[in-house]
This record gives sequence, structure tokens and C-alpha cells, in this order.
Amino acid sequence: MSAASLYIVATPIGNLQDMSLRAIEVLSQVDLIAAEDTRHSSRLLKHYGITTPLMALHEHNEQARIEHCLQNLNEGKSIALITDAGTPLISDPGFQLVRAARQSGLIVSPIPGPSAITAALSSAGLPSDSFIFAGFIPAKQAARLKKLEGYSGERRTMIFYEAPHRIVETLHDMQRVFSPKRRAVLAREMTKTHETFLACTLENLLEIVTLDANQQRGEMVLLLEGESDKRSEDLNEVVVKPDKLMEILLEELPLKQASSLAAKISGLKKNSLYQIGLKLK
Ligand code: SAM
Repeated sequence: MSAASLYIVATPIGNLQDMSLRAIEVLSQVDLIAAEDTRHSSRLLKHYGITTPLMALHEHNEQARIEHCLQNLNEGKSIALITDAGTPLISDPGFQLVRAARQSGLIVSPIPGPSAITAALSSAGLPSDSFIFAGFIPAKQAARLKKLEGYSGERRTMIFYEAPHRIVETLHDMQRVFSPKRRAVLAREMTKTHETFLACTLENLLEIVTLDANQQRGEMVLLLEGESDKRSEDLNEVVVKPDKLMEILLEELPLKQASSLAAKISGLKKNSLYQIGLKLK
């Protein structure tokens, strides 16, 4: 190990064997490990016989811990930052500490390894040359729709983190913003016993996930193919989003008739369109 450094160490996202040799070495040799949840991480550390002292650093105390960490680093001690799973700072604590350490001219060094983003993208079969990580999807519907609408013209593959109990609602909302024919992948429980990748269209994904409660369990990453030139320019494949369709029809027709006509045009369920119409009114 080099001079006193802050190491940002990636840990497994499920399978303990995904720990790198360098991660084990660094965690064994640093003076202190700052961990998001010390109880959770002590299981991993015990598995690898690592006995380095632990300190809690999570979203609620990160700011308060910065001074302590910088002092240790300035005294020549090395610190490793780990979180519950994957790469710290990726929808996880650590950003404020890393920024403060950099601003103080200290050495910050990554020990790369697993992240749910790269694991999902590497195996999803969606374009991977250019992608965006959109983080967690908001829990409340208005905020969720706003966030999704912000990506409506996005051409890159989109990667979202989602909680299992909201996946059905999110897939419903995605169909309001994106074409139901858009390709999507649900990467669930990666590296664990029940790892599954569901790769199909948004509408099929919603159907499968709704019918099979097992698909609504565990940790998940949702990936969505970006908008393509070909799709938007292909006159045989004009896609009108359901809420836009309802908005147009409601200018001329009462809600019931508008939903019925929209169902014929789009092939979507009349009741779902009726509900969209109700919200628009
Ligand atoms: N720092 C982590 C990383 O590098 O991926 C992410 C932490 S974030 C708090 C946790 C979210 O990551 C989960 O809610 C889920 O969306 C995703 N995730 C983590 N492990 C996963 C796994 N084994 N399979 C699928 N998604 C996972």
C-alpha cells in the first residue's frame, strides 16, 4: 500500500466470492474501515478473516464524520470506505467524504469491483456503448412520472434502481411515457441463487411481473432501451403515448367514448385508458 490514502472499496452485490484479492488486501491493511452498516459489513469481513477496526459512516452521519476521517488521513493513517453492497457513492454514501478529501489534497484511490449498474448492463443485451444511470425512481407517482418524462427522448440505454414493492406501478407509469413496445430488461437478484433476467418489451414485462409475484421480490435493476432514429422515423411504427392519445381524444369526446376509441387504436385496456383520462380531466 502507498502513502496514507482514502480507499473506495467495492464489495459484492450478493455473492461473497465476488470480493477482489485487492479489496481483501486493502481492507486488511488499512487503519480504519468506514462502513455504511457495521453489523452488515462485519459478516463479510469475518468471512475473509479481516479484523480492522470499523466505524459507521452512513447518510445520516457522513457530514459529522468527515472531520474525524480527514484528521486520521492527515496523521498518516489510511481509511477504506465500504457500503452494504457494490461500489460506494453509487446510490450510496461517500460523496461528501470523497469531495472533502480531494479538496484537502489527500489521496483518494478506487479499489474497483462489483456494481449493480455494470453487472446489469453487461448481461442485459441492450446497447452498452452509451448509457445513463438514472438512480432510484421516486416513490411518489407525480415525482416518478416527472422523472420518467425527463427521459422521454433519451437515446441512450437507461438504467434505474427500483424497489421490489413498486415495480408494477413503475412499469405501468413507464408505459405512459414510453412506447409499450420499447425493449426493457429486469435484472433481479444478480449473483444470488434466484438471479433472473427478464428481457422483453415493456408491455410484456409488465404482464409477466404482474402475474408472477416472485418477480416482485428481491433486489432489482430496470433497464430501458433508448429511443432510436429508426423507430421515430418509421412511418409504419408511429407510436403515440397513451396519455397523449387520451389528451387529444378528450378535446373532442366524452371520457367514455375517448377511452373506447383509444383502446381500439392502441390495443391497450379500455379501463387503463379511462383511468389515464380521469387523471387528465
Ligand atoms: N452501491 C450499489 C452498487 O454499486 O450497485 C448500489 C446500492 S443501492 C442502495 C441498492 C440498489 O442496487 C438495490 O435497491 C437494487 O436496485 C440494486 N442492486 C444491488 N444489488 C443488486 C443485485 N444483486 N441484483 C439486482 N439489483 C441490485
